[in-house]
Amino acid sequence: MGSVRCLRCVSCQTEYDPREIDYTCPTCGPRRGTLEVIYDEAALRRTIRRETFAATGRASMWRYETLLPIDSMRFVQPLRVGWTPLYSFPALAQRLNLAALYVKDDGQNPTASYKDRASSLVVIKAQERERHTVTCASTGNAASSLAGFAAAAGLPAVIFVPERAPEAKVAQLLVYGAKVFSVLGSYDDAYDLASEAADRFGWYNRSAALNPYLVEGKKTGAYEIAEQLGWQPPDLVFIGVGDGSVVSGLCKGFEEFARLGLIDRVPRVVGVQAEGSSPIAAAFARYRGSTVEFEDVEAATVADSICVGKPRDVVKAVTYVARNGGEFVSVSDNEILEAILTLARSTGVFAEPAGAAAYAGLVQLAKGGTLAGKTAAVVVSGNGLKDTAATRQRVGAPIRIEPHVKEIERYL
Ligand SMILES: *Cc1c(COP(=O)(O)O)cnc(C)c1O
Ligand SMILES: [Zn+2]
Repeated sequence: MGSVRCLRCVSCQTEYDPREIDYTCPTCGPRRGTLEVIYDEAALRRTIRRETFAATGRASMWRYETLLPIDSMRFVQPLRVGWTPLYSFPALAQRLNLAALYVKDDGQNPTASYKDRASSLVVIKAQERERHTVTCASTGNAASSLAGFAAAAGLPAVIFVPERAPEAKVAQLLVYGAKVFSVLGSYDDAYDLASEAADRFGWYNRSAALNPYLVEGKKTGAYEIAEQLGWQPPDLVFIGVGDGSVVSGLCKGFEEFARLGLIDRVPRVVGVQAEGSSPIAAAFARYRGSTVEFEDVEAATVADSICVGKPRDVVKAVTYVARNGGEFVSVSDNEILEAILTLARSTGVFAEPAGAAAYAGLVQLAKGGTLAGKTAAVVVSGNGLKDTAATRQRVGAPIRIEPHVKEIERYL
């Protein structure tokens, strides 16, 4: 399987043969025992150069094939995933007293979120393992993304959503042809049901954090930021955090590039949580370098994609960000909604609330004065068209007029 050496438990460090295990460490269980994909880095160091990726000619995350856990390119879908634009906005940077500000627009992925990086990879793993149906529980983007990539691969998808999932995302699922179960209960009920059904019916499970290959897809955003900036990554990278997998992926990606000698220094990764849903930020504040202690909460925030009270990758997120030298911050719903408007109006990039949370985190730290003269990248992890209800309340209504030019003059 490419250069994969083993799967290793993030808590007890036991190593497993990837052919013998699908999901989590049997000793530590699904919550603490998420697995990391470990590569034969000595061999990779001998063969990989900065030029290796561009030489593939692929403008997608599959330019990093040699650092991803697939057997071959055989099952890679035709959809273009990753290699999303990284824009520079000097005027906005100046307003925040930064030397440079970059926006990575992952809303431009096929199903319009960062989750596509993980779904593409997991659907391939399902096919390599001859699993003929894929499943997951999700409140939104993970599900719509899996449904889209399963459709591209010709695999059936069975999706479990909690009763209260956002309308646009449920529409995406049904349009992609997934079988969708709306579970009369919480996201946690749906999550447990998906796991049980996957075991019972032999489906391949993409639910958050459970599947070790998700973080591998998610690390490619870090690779891209480094390569797109000419191997000079910014001082800081900001990302919205729910279950904690994307932030872990970004840390892992930068770390791997540094160990392979492709970059000289690793950016500080800042995970941004919503105030009403910040159990990982709380666990990080308590963390003293040994066991990660965490407490689940009753989550509530306008940012549905990061509304997670029982984060599934909390151990990985806390240990990776601590090792990275990064941190977690929390922002209010008000700051998130403001961030959507500022971003849209000063960059033209329309983010969904969880995507704009990253920018809100940057603004919060910039106001504190600690970022003066630094360079920063913000990952917009989802497109604003996925969830317009929250922002719509902020922007008022259009001006109603009769179709006469005189009417326009009254309002100029
Ligand atoms: C899933 C998601 C996140 C957070 O990813 P986690 O791995 O759950 O922390 C952020 N933004 C968007 C748009 C997402 O869909
Ligand atoms: Zn373990």
